[in-house]
Amino acid sequence: MHKNLSEILITKEQIDKRVKELAAEISLDYQGKDIVFIGVLKGCFLFLSDLVKNVRLNTNIDFMMISSYEGKQSTGIVRILLDLKNSIDGRDVIVVEDIVDTGLTINYLLKALKTRKPKSIEVCSLLNKPTCRKVNVNIKYRGFDIPDKFVVGYGLDYNEYYRNLPYVGVLKDEVI
Ligand code: 5GP
Repeated sequence: MHKNLSEILITKEQIDKRVKELAAEISLDYQGKDIVFIGVLKGCFLFLSDLVKNVRLNTNIDFMMISSYEGKQSTGIVRILLDLKNSIDGRDVIVVEDIVDTGLTINYLLKALKTRKPKSIEVCSLLNKPTCRKVNVNIKYRGFDIPDKFVVGYGLDYNEYYRNLPYVGVLKDEVI
């Protein structure tokens, strides 16, 4: 285990299994449709890549990069740093997130994307911290509910480190 982690919360095997289940669910729900996955960078990069490898549909993949966090706090003020390459007008869209915490970021992003007139838009998030919610968000596809702890790995960072870990772990308090 990485020396700065206090525990492994979700193992690689648990992630692999759950991602396949989510991909199967999406493949069934969107049978015969053409969908656009929007990955929210950078945290989504491993989750999105494992997810789409297991989805049996015609898919487009696009990315956005936003900034919402100052240090460890969600501010609710979201800046779009990188926007979509293609229009989502009339398309079935799934926004892929690493984690929904207060919900402020995804809420803001959904509002912004809905003005671009997608046919449908849903959220797929690997992790969900239900106890931290400040606004109501409908997460149709969710990987794991986790407690209110700062987690890293499988795409999630602390100061840009730990994204490459194949599992999700909790950082030791003294590191944060
Ligand atoms: P929200 O606006 O829902 O509070 O925050 C969502 C964003 O905050 C996520 O996309 C992620 O970048 C960051 N975030 C929230 N909780 C955690 C966490 O436990 N670990 C890490 N690494 N990032 C988090």
